[in-house]
Amino acid sequence: MSRSEIMTRLNVKNVRFDVGSGGIPVITPELVAGACAYMSRGAYTLARAIHCGEASDGIALLKEAEKLSYGLARDNGWNYNEKAIKGIAVIACFLIMNPGRCKWCKGTKFNTHAKQCQACNGTGQAKDPSLRKLAEIADMDNENYRKRWHPRAMRLLAELQILMCEVDRVLKRQLDA
Ligand SMILES: [Zn+2]
Repeated sequence: MSRSEIMTRLNVKNVRFDVGSGGIPVITPELVAGACAYMSRGAYTLARAIHCGEASDGIALLKEAEKLSYGLARDNGWNYNEKAIKGIAVIACFLIMNPGRCKWCKGTKFNTHAKQCQACNGTGQAKDPSLRKLAEIADMDNENYRKRWHPRAMRLLAELQILMCEVDRVLKRQLDA
């Protein structure tokens, strides 16, 4: 599978910035570019993938995630399985790009009658995709993914979430400036 095919599968969305009750501000590519100097390279790659949404931005993020994945594999003595190491990079990118907002209340936690959304029990979060679905996205054997590589995918996702915090912090500051 080529990188661009993978990115198509990832279903890249380019609007994802929640500042709470004040609504969703528009993050422009210009704002992201202006924030470049205040972020680590990894965070900037993630910011571009999420807020600019060019195919090349998604591919750059995938490369970054693969690098992190190889690093984790080395540091933790994971069995060397190139397909799996790359597969969990796809998973981590997928999950960070699709944070899983409840599709009924769109993450607002309330239904149209201003009552707690029943579909998500007022969490605003969608259910995580099933492990079967994730194995499919990673193009991996279901059992092998579930037993061995899913926890590793979650480790990798945590690394991206740390970068995400940096992105949100810097962009928030840029918006307030
Ligand atoms: Zn909901």
